[in-house]
Amino acid sequence: MQFNVAQLLKEPIGATRTYSLDESLAGLDTDLIPLSTLTGTLHLLRTHSGVLASGRFDVTVQADCGRCLEPVPAQIEVTFEESFRPLTEVTTGRFLLPDEFEGEEEDLEDFALIINDHHILDISEILRQSIWLGMPMIPRCVYADPENCPNFVERLNEMAEVHADLKGSDDQPAIDPRWAALLVLQKNDED
Ligand SMILES: [Zn+2]
Repeated sequence: MQFNVAQLLKEPIGATRTYSLDESLAGLDTDLIPLSTLTGTLHLLRTHSGVLASGRFDVTVQADCGRCLEPVPAQIEVTFEESFRPLTEVTTGRFLLPDEFEGEEEDLEDFALIINDHHILDISEILRQSIWLGMPMIPRCVYADPENCPNFVERLNEMAEVHADLKGSDDQPAIDPRWAALLVLQKNDED
């Protein structure tokens, strides 16, 4: 998601660009499983120190239900507003010195906010961070009542079986590895 802002940087403060995006997020983050493209609008605004990029996007990604652990789709609204700074002066190609930067100090130090020496503004890293920020704290599957969730009921039954097995014998039962850590705790409790 790269934008050449050479022309915009040559324009006066207040000049704008607007882009409608419909982008694949494949490869953006190995821990992120996109279930849709990212759609929305990106605004670029020429400022005294560079380009202010702001956007509002929608995307659906895969999350795990916080109760039954099954994968569930999470619809996320992604918003950001970030100030990008040019690495070079667009008219001369000269590298700009840090003390020539007129924006906020925190923007100066963020590598994700640099417009590179080819005048490319890349929103990928900002988007990636914003998507994680927009993730629901505890994703939930469609079942409001856990007793109606077949996956959750299955997990409960598995737990009950494992519990019975542990009481009955010292053999390690075959269980879902995601529960193994909990069982160790439970066993320690009983000792
Ligand atoms: Zn669930």
